[in-house]
Amino acid sequence: MKALVYGGPGSRSWTEIPDPVIRDPRDAVIRVDAVTICGTDLHILGGDVPAVEPGRVLGHEAVGTVVEVGSGVAGLAPGDRVLASCISACGICRYCRDGAYGQCLGGGGWILGHRVDGVQAELARIPFADLSTYKLPDQVSDEAAVLLADILPTSYEVGVLNGGVRPGDTVAIVGAGPIGLAAVLTARLYSPAHVIVIDKAESRLQAAKLFGADITVLAGTEDPLAAVRSVTGGLGADVVIEAVGTPQTFELCATLVRAGGHLANVGVHGKPVTLHLEDLWIRNVTITTGLVDTYSTPKLLDMLVAGQLDLGHMVTHRFGIGDFMQAYDVFADPARTGALKVVLSR
Ligand code: NAD
Ligand code: ZN
Repeated sequence: MKALVYGGPGSRSWTEIPDPVIRDPRDAVIRVDAVTICGTDLHILGGDVPAVEPGRVLGHEAVGTVVEVGSGVAGLAPGDRVLASCISACGICRYCRDGAYGQCLGGGGWILGHRVDGVQAELARIPFADLSTYKLPDQVSDEAAVLLADILPTSYEVGVLNGGVRPGDTVAIVGAGPIGLAAVLTARLYSPAHVIVIDKAESRLQAAKLFGADITVLAGTEDPLAAVRSVTGGLGADVVIEAVGTPQTFELCATLVRAGGHLANVGVHGKPVTLHLEDLWIRNVTITTGLVDTYSTPKLLDMLVAGQLDLGHMVTHRFGIGDFMQAYDVFADPARTGALKVVLSR
């Protein structure tokens, strides 16, 4: 089969490698039908994730058809159409029993395209297949379902649910990439009074409006704090979601949150941030952060089937499954291409 193989920092190739095989009774092998690229793949290609070794097949967001299951897989059979979750879960360790799949002690966690070969390939081995895949109803398209592998559960769990968004809240979201936009969409499920999105790219702010933001702020030109205060009687936002991952944007979030409010960090930070506890403690600000667990995926699928998640604006570019080299070029340069998510399908 062919796969997108990491060759070390800055190097990737779409190349022939041996087909994946069942290695553990809990494995399944899927034919990849739709697959996408994540900002995290760019971090890996940039050399920011040293644990990923050259030779690794990248990718952790796919929809596919089961072609083979191990003897220990109970709930799947060849021919089943499944979503492969970005987080694998053994299901029996202390953390998995708590729904904290991202912290799985049994060999799972964030492993696809990281510690084991991923899904940017014609075929993929899915470890712990019973717990790491979701059977898809016919009415859900591959293109919509693949967005539930990572970006939707991430924004929903780590941003909206950790942040505790409630009806009438003012929610400020810093960063309007696919993660920030999915946070707009899932925050909207809770009838907030305002969703304010701050980004430094005008094109991303236009996208935020399509997803339901009512106020947008161009960072570097307009004043985010003034915008948030103008609709909150000067108090600040009830919930602030950080969806960039820089010290500067984290510190901005800490200024935007009201006393008694919640700062939910989603961005992956490569550098330490300054935590102004001298300000935050006396203002009773709650801060949460975390890796996605994907415990919300079944409910997100239900919402998708029920027509409550309009993902129509998220996929901006479509390619054939063999066009990974070009798809990466488009995804990695959103200022030029306007790309949000790019999907490669059979
Ligand atoms: P992205 O790069 O597509 O989007 C980031 C956005 O931030 C861009 O629109 C950019 O214009 C904007 N931005 C950059 N600097 C800014 C600044 N100073 N002020 C305002 N806006 C600024 O990324 P994404 O795919 O949407 O992911 C967002 C973050 O979420 C990343 O850090 C990613 O690694 C992280 N992430 C976290 C998890 C998790 O489990 N916690 C999972 C997936 C992704
Ligand atoms: Zn586990």
